[in-house]
Amino acid sequence: MTYYGPDYASLQQQDPEIAGVLVDELTRLRSGLQLIASENFTSPAVLAALGSTLSNKYAEGYPGRRYYGGCEVVDVAETIGIQRAKDLFGAEHANLQPHSGASANLAVYGAFLKPGDTVLAMSLPHGGHLTHGSKVSFSGKWFNAVHYGVAKDTEDIDYDQMRALAREHRPKMIIAGGSAIPRTIDFAAFREVADEVGAVFMVDAAHFIGLVAGGAIPSPVPYADVVTFTTHKVLRGPRGGALVCKADHAAALDKAVFPMMQGGPLMQAVAAKAVNFRECATPEYAAYARQVIANAQALTEALAAEGMRPVTGGTDTHLALLDLQGIGVSGKDAEERCGRAGIVLNKNAIPYDPQPPSVASGIRVGSPSVTTQGMVEGDMKEIATLIARAVRDEDGSAAEEVRRGVQALVDAHPAYPQPSAPPAAL
Ligand SMILES: *Cc1c(COP(=O)(O)O)cnc(C)c1O
Repeated sequence: MTYYGPDYASLQQQDPEIAGVLVDELTRLRSGLQLIASENFTSPAVLAALGSTLSNKYAEGYPGRRYYGGCEVVDVAETIGIQRAKDLFGAEHANLQPHSGASANLAVYGAFLKPGDTVLAMSLPHGGHLTHGSKVSFSGKWFNAVHYGVAKDTEDIDYDQMRALAREHRPKMIIAGGSAIPRTIDFAAFREVADEVGAVFMVDAAHFIGLVAGGAIPSPVPYADVVTFTTHKVLRGPRGGALVCKADHAAALDKAVFPMMQGGPLMQAVAAKAVNFRECATPEYAAYARQVIANAQALTEALAAEGMRPVTGGTDTHLALLDLQGIGVSGKDAEERCGRAGIVLNKNAIPYDPQPPSVASGIRVGSPSVTTQGMVEGDMKEIATLIARAVRDEDGSAAEEVRRGVQALVDAHPAYPQPSAPPAAL
């Protein structure tokens, strides 16, 4: 069991340059605080499946109906994975082949819409996603996207606006979900509107599906026609996408994933998704999901006490958006100042942001990675203190001291703790 890959020694012999990158990345993870809300540290078991000979196999099609011979072994992995996904989410059908979250979303558009059709989704600057109708994405180039946002007072989804826009534009599809939504979503409200206007209801659960898997927040699965997700965020599986849906949509969505949008599946990733779903069905994972939220809440409260205003006043999930206007620091400066002290987070637009996205008035922080490292609420208070020092450190004079505090925290909770020393081959 080694997280350098199943045969690190031979890689080092054949290609020391890339072998060095693998080691440097591990060193980077172990010497900083990873607070990117969409990242996590997957298990060595998941990495083992990813670094396997399943990568070699062409398996266009689905278990039992492939376009290539020799698929009887990989069929087992995909069949097990599909069953585990259905069991984990209480879903009627699952497709594990999308290469990414964006590919899963593309497949849903392909299954239900024709170019030019109207889609109603959350606006990107209010927390949506590029694939929800942004002009730079296929979704905004090929479809007519209409966007709802958050209400100015609550900073949470404006359900009245969403309903009014649906009645006005009669979209073929309504999308809930996004990349910077700290609160749980009222899926029943979306379902009601979708039924009223005759729209397909899609939930893009890329960010929060792990919290659903762990039973820590309500599931969209009973309400949505289709739920797409990534497998690498809170869920803690391999980088990739997947979808679950109602049985009536199974054939259309399977055909949209392959052959409409993709060719051969990444069978190493499909197997790694199966490994991950088994991990997610354990009480340990449920406890993890609860701790992710408890940590995000503790971090948010402590940052608020340091003068950083949480958008919507807090969080119900694994992430928070902090408005830094009150302390007179831009998101861009905050990201840079934290980065130089070993704290990895991202600048983020806040709703109704007066700054352009390249500057932004806020930062986004997430707890999935630090929770995987075993940190708890007390550690979040320390992290908030370190962030507060870093973001105010205009000239960089405090960077070294903050970095020492970061190192002490990550040394006490190392990412990928075994082996404690690098293998002799290094
Ligand atoms: C991360 C994310 C995606 C895209 O996932 P990729 O695997 O990066 O393509 C799609 N939708 C939302 C809401 C996301 O947060």
